[in-house]
Amino acid sequence: MNSPRIMRRAAVGFLASTIVAASLHTTPRSVTIVIPDRASPVVLFAAGELQTAFKRAGVATELKKQSESSTQAEGEVRFALSPARERAAAGSDSLKPQEYAVHAPGGASEASITGGDDRGVLYGTMDFIHDHLTGYLAGTPIDCREAPHIATRGIWTWGGRIYNYERLLDNMARWKFNSICVWHRFAPKNARALAAYARTRGIGVVWGYAWGWGMPVCPSDSLERETWKRYIIETYRTTYAAAGGEGVYFQTFTEVYSKTQFCRFGEKCPNGCTNKSAGELLSGWVNPLVEAFAKEFPGVRIYCGVHGHAFHESLQGLDRLDRRAEMVWEDVGAFPFDYNPEAVREKTFNETTEFVGRLASAQGPGGNTLFVFKGMVMGWGGFDPMLVTDEVVLTELARKRAQSWLPLETGWRENAGYEFQMVRIIENLPIPERAVYGLVEDALFEVRQWLPVALFAESLWNPHRDTEGLIKHIENVPDVVSVVR
Ligand SMILES: [Zn+2]
Repeated sequence: MNSPRIMRRAAVGFLASTIVAASLHTTPRSVTIVIPDRASPVVLFAAGELQTAFKRAGVATELKKQSESSTQAEGEVRFALSPARERAAAGSDSLKPQEYAVHAPGGASEASITGGDDRGVLYGTMDFIHDHLTGYLAGTPIDCREAPHIATRGIWTWGGRIYNYERLLDNMARWKFNSICVWHRFAPKNARALAAYARTRGIGVVWGYAWGWGMPVCPSDSLERETWKRYIIETYRTTYAAAGGEGVYFQTFTEVYSKTQFCRFGEKCPNGCTNKSAGELLSGWVNPLVEAFAKEFPGVRIYCGVHGHAFHESLQGLDRLDRRAEMVWEDVGAFPFDYNPEAVREKTFNETTEFVGRLASAQGPGGNTLFVFKGMVMGWGGFDPMLVTDEVVLTELARKRAQSWLPLETGWRENAGYEFQMVRIIENLPIPERAVYGLVEDALFEVRQWLPVALFAESLWNPHRDTEGLIKHIENVPDVVSVVR
């Protein structure tokens, strides 16, 4: 139905938009961030970050829902944030979870960040803020599409040394982390609140606790195994099951340097430990628990944490590990596995990469292997995650912590190339899902976006970048704190 009136209105509309585009300065006069009517908390967070970034750059910005944003003023840019399901008609449905596409032509009246899911919107928004905003405001057209190289990018931390868990999770989201493993010796009271907040930032929570760590056990003693199994399941049932979370992490055989130390009888074990490899001892100890846990809590991922020292020559038998358990390896060699980021030499690094390869194949096809990097650890201990909001207290804590960051940042700056190389090696391992966690403990990342943590996050997103250039870029991001520069 082409009535003359409709034709005229269409022509006026076309003319108006042409004039708007032609009269636009390279810097928009104002930006309206348009979000779906039923935007998730993750998308709302992304929109809030974008609004803050535009305002900081001196651009008037407001936030509107799709249904509230029908008119467009002259010089106004409509900046749409949407997950692909909202934009299926626009042909963006091929974006995968976490993936995003940014379309922001310089000087045009429309721009968009489309995500394969809500997290994709968040990651696209944060990369736009960190990497492209300055260029965009200067008129550079931004068109890019990105997906993470490591699917699960996490922080592993003692829960009792989190000073403000909301801010920690906010800063994690800002650097595209999507998982946190929170470790406690005693189950925290506010587990449920922490997990609920993490969901609003697109971050899955894994609850960690010990399974015989530091306790005298004999892994071949079926009675002891039964006792510990009950303890693990009871702890999860009473504290964590209702809190919500994606996974559970048990740490076994920690900080022991030979398999003989797994057993409290040492070399005199009457139950047969001495004749078994480290891999056999581990599978024997873990499998009955995995069986029982998976039966009672189906769908909760089971991470089996161990330190690598004792496994160097003793990996056989690890292929017997229940496939429902995913191995999480710590302490498998040089930085980035070492606490000290300066302690890396070509030889030790090469030995470490060789061991990482053996670990990944030790479980056989289908077995998943996760890795934990170090080099960002200040301390551990404590009880419940805290929610300190007193700025004076937090600022003073961060000021003191800067001293501890000094040698660590120096090490990360010097050896980032090794860390990036290790991420590339992990990316190419024959394992079903790639996951790397970094120990960031008692480090006040909730108060300061320290450069090494941001760099670590970026290495997991895309390790195929020149580290020197990336460090220069990251240290110029307004919120990033370098204690070296
Ligand atoms: Zn024994």
